[in-house]
Amino acid sequence: MNDINIAITTLLSGEPVAFPTETVYGLGADCTNDQAVEKIFLLKGRPSFNPLIIHVLNLDTALKYGEFNRSALRLAQSFWPGPLTLVVPLRPGNNISQRVTAGLETIAIRVPNHPVALELLRRYPNPIAAPSANKSGYVSPTKHEHVRNEFHDDVFIIPGDQSCIGLESTIVDCSDEEVAILRPGFITKTDIENFLDMPVSEKSSTEAIKAPGQLKHHYSPSLPVRLNANNVLPNEALLTFGSNELTSDVMLNLSPTGNLDEAATNLFDFLRALDKTTSNINQIAVAAIPNIGVGLAINERLQRAATPKSD
Ligand code: AMP
Ligand code: MG
Repeated sequence: MNDINIAITTLLSGEPVAFPTETVYGLGADCTNDQAVEKIFLLKGRPSFNPLIIHVLNLDTALKYGEFNRSALRLAQSFWPGPLTLVVPLRPGNNISQRVTAGLETIAIRVPNHPVALELLRRYPNPIAAPSANKSGYVSPTKHEHVRNEFHDDVFIIPGDQSCIGLESTIVDCSDEEVAILRPGFITKTDIENFLDMPVSEKSSTEAIKAPGQLKHHYSPSLPVRLNANNVLPNEALLTFGSNELTSDVMLNLSPTGNLDEAATNLFDFLRALDKTTSNINQIAVAAIPNIGVGLAINERLQRAATPKSD
């Protein structure tokens, strides 16, 4: 049986399946099955108030579950399949588990641009609710080994390549006339503003889900992270970017040529790798990353990674 067949049987039986997408690996459950969705929250240790994104094959399917205003329709038509999640009002009379939406009247929907994810969605009868396939608060996975390292044999994994974008999707709230970015990503606020030809605000997704301040610490390695480093302390590993003078015995360069897309692809893989170094490393120093384009999303993830766990 090929991996997609196994995945379908597994999902139908109410068990989770991890699968590759172009952003990060997802931990999927049948979004009509309460118990299956509950397992995702348990496996991740994710707070139940934090709703999940549903993954669908195309806009036609998305329209069965969400009410798309003009902005939402235009964004979906232009950016799907792709690394963009739209939050729209939940269409009444749907069969989505309330655990997916955490009881909200809105739903987050995405069409991933990855052949394996699309094949799974083409063959599976229901949308698949899928957060990133990592323990809640840890760094998102961009390789199937990352998922295996965290969940071992508890989860069936459809193996695939490294996620090429490497950052979670941009989340755009289109549930009101005013469009707001809830999470920055590869598709930037400027991309959305230029496309819609209107100003777009920025809100935290915790504001949108009305659970203020809960999720500030996120995407974090076990080791503390020190940002905008212009020196390296003893016992620090170094995550650097482009050409600068900084060096350490334990170091990785997100993009020696200073390419922000490449840096995004490598970010979570390299954070995980530095977090697992066996030498006397007790902190990760991160060189400054230009705060432009996809650099804005990279810096947002790094900021969260550097937020202490007690926060
Ligand atoms: P993750 O699954 O970890 O990529 O996170 C999904 C993100 O989508 C979380 O930050 C949620 O808060 C956000 N999200 C999902 N559904 C909604 C919704 N209905 N309204 C606002 N944000 C949402
Ligand atoms: Mg996540």
